[in-house]
Amino acid sequence: MSAVVVVHGGAWAIPDELAKASVDGVKAAAREGSSVLRSGGSALDAVEAAVRALEDNTVFNAGHGATLNIDGELEMDAIIMDGKTLASGAVSSVKNIANPVSLARAVMEKTPHAMLTGRGANLFAESIGVSTVSADSLITKYERKEWELRKKYMTGVMEEFNLEWAHDTVGAVAVDCAENVACATSTGGIRNKMVGRVGDSPIIGCGGYADNLSGAVSCTGHGESILKVTLARLILSHIEQGKSVSDASQLSLQTMGDRVQSAGGAIVVSPSGQWAATFTTVRMAWAAVEHDVLWFGLDPNEKQEEMLRL
Ligand code: ASP
Repeated sequence: MSAVVVVHGGAWAIPDELAKASVDGVKAAAREGSSVLRSGGSALDAVEAAVRALEDNTVFNAGHGATLNIDGELEMDAIIMDGKTLASGAVSSVKNIANPVSLARAVMEKTPHAMLTGRGANLFAESIGVSTVSADSLITKYERKEWELRKKYMTGVMEEFNLEWAHDTVGAVAVDCAENVACATSTGGIRNKMVGRVGDSPIIGCGGYADNLSGAVSCTGHGESILKVTLARLILSHIEQGKSVSDASQLSLQTMGDRVQSAGGAIVVSPSGQWAATFTTVRMAWAAVEHDVLWFGLDPNEKQEEMLRL
C-alpha cells in the first residue's frame, strides 16, 4: 500500500482572481505532506506539515491571512486527530499563534485535554515555548479591506448578490505506509462572526475525524450546518456501512443539502489508500499525492494530474 495525502483550501465560490493562487497553494501543501511521508514520517506528521503550509499561505483563511470577527480581531480554530489511538487535540479562538494546527497537536500530545480555548490556549502555548506573534502580523491587507467593505455577517456566509457560499478553511488527511490515518483542519472561521463564535472546524466528528478502522476526513463549509449533521462522522459511518469513500462523501454532503440547505466539501482517505475530494459548492481547491502523481482540481469534476516533482 502506498501512502497518500489529500489537502483542501476551502469549499466556496472562489473568484477567478484567486483561482491560480489557490490551486498552486494546495499543490504545494500536498507536496509538503507527501515529502514528509516519503521520508518516513507518519500520517500525523504529514497532515500537520501540509496544514502548516496552508496556514503560512496568505491566500487561505487560516493562520496568516485568516478572516476577522465582528470586532476586526482574529479568532482561529484548529483540530488534529490520530486514527491509530483516536487521540485528538484542538484549539479555538486563538489570536496570535502563527500555526494553530501545531498548537492543537501539542494539546493532544502534552495535555490530558482535547481542546483549549482563547486565553487558556495562549497560556499553554507560552508554557511549552510555542512563540506567539503579534496578531497584526497575521492580518493581511486584503482581509482588512474585505472586512471594512463587508460589515454584515451574512455576507461572510453567502455573497449578497449571487448567493454563493463565501467562506473557506483548510485541511489535510493522510494514510501512511503502516496504514495509520490522520486528519487536520484549520480556519479563521467566518468573517464578521460574533466574538467567541466557534464553528465546526475544531469540533471532533464535525470539522474532522480519523479512525484507522474506517478513514480520515477533513470538512469545510458553513460551520453551523456542518455541526448539525456531524459531517466528518457521517461520512465515516457510510464507509463503515460499506460505501466507497467517494459515495460516502457525496451522500453525506447531499444529506447536509437536504436537511439543512447547506453546501460544503470534504476530503477523505481510507486505511487502504482510497481517497476522494468532494464538494457541493461552486469550487474547492484540492490536491492529492498518490504514488508519484500529483492530482488536483478546482471546478466540479475537474481532476488534473502531473508527475510529482521531487
Ligand atoms: N467551517 C468553517 C467555519 O464555519 C468555515 C469554512 O469551512 O468555510 O468556521
